[in-house]
Amino acid sequence: MSEPALHIDGVHKEFRQGENRLTVLDDAALTVQPGEFVALVGPSGSGKSTLMHIAGLLERPDTGRIRIAGADGSQLNDGARTRLRRTALGFVYQHHHLLPEFSAAENLILPQMIAGSGRREARSRALELLEQVGLSERADHRPARLSGGEAQRVAIARALVNRPDLLLADEPTGNLDPHTSDRVFDLLQGLARDAGLAALVATHNFDLAARMDRTLRIVDGHVSPA
Ligand code: ADP
Ligand code: MG
Repeated sequence: MSEPALHIDGVHKEFRQGENRLTVLDDAALTVQPGEFVALVGPSGSGKSTLMHIAGLLERPDTGRIRIAGADGSQLNDGARTRLRRTALGFVYQHHHLLPEFSAAENLILPQMIAGSGRREARSRALELLEQVGLSERADHRPARLSGGEAQRVAIARALVNRPDLLLADEPTGNLDPHTSDRVFDLLQGLARDAGLAALVATHNFDLAARMDRTLRIVDGHVSPA
């Protein structure tokens, strides 16, 4: 059997808040299999974003292991973690986080060039993805000229541009109206499934969670089936 897209176990994370220590994750564990879409739910402040940052190798846990597509993220030095993040992971956030001074196409070209692609190849892949998200005619527009839904579609294309194994999406439609939210999520799920990608999606939206393969919930720092 192939390795899980994501396997986390024994993860403990505390934050210092003034004089106090706040335990956010306490022996948290979860597995996402290749191709699986998993929702992560829990009330505001329950630790969803903290867990996504740890899974995304953006933050180190106090203890615990993180394996991404068979690679042990917790054992690597910072440079190797960055390389693994660029090749194996795609990120989508609540806000699009596109670079404001660059066009939609350039926002998709840059991450490929940082990962080692040539400009010509990167441009052709960027235009192919913009077509897949229905924004070919917006390729030369800067983010400020895009609607919220369009900007989020570019952000989804950017997350897929380096052909990751795992998509990490933290409230990906949290900033959109319900109708746009449904359409953007359908697009995200359709493209990810076509690419055989696994996804962990933190969401407040139980309708979205119901459309995924499985739902996990964070309660008192633990992750359990919902
Ligand atoms: P969620 O995404 O489920 O809303 P978060 O993971 O953002 O939850 O936050 C979980 C808890 O950890 C919250 O109480 C938050 O205030 C706290 N927290 C998150 N990041 C930090 C930080 N860098 N320093 C201190 N406390 C933090
Ligand atoms: Mg959050």
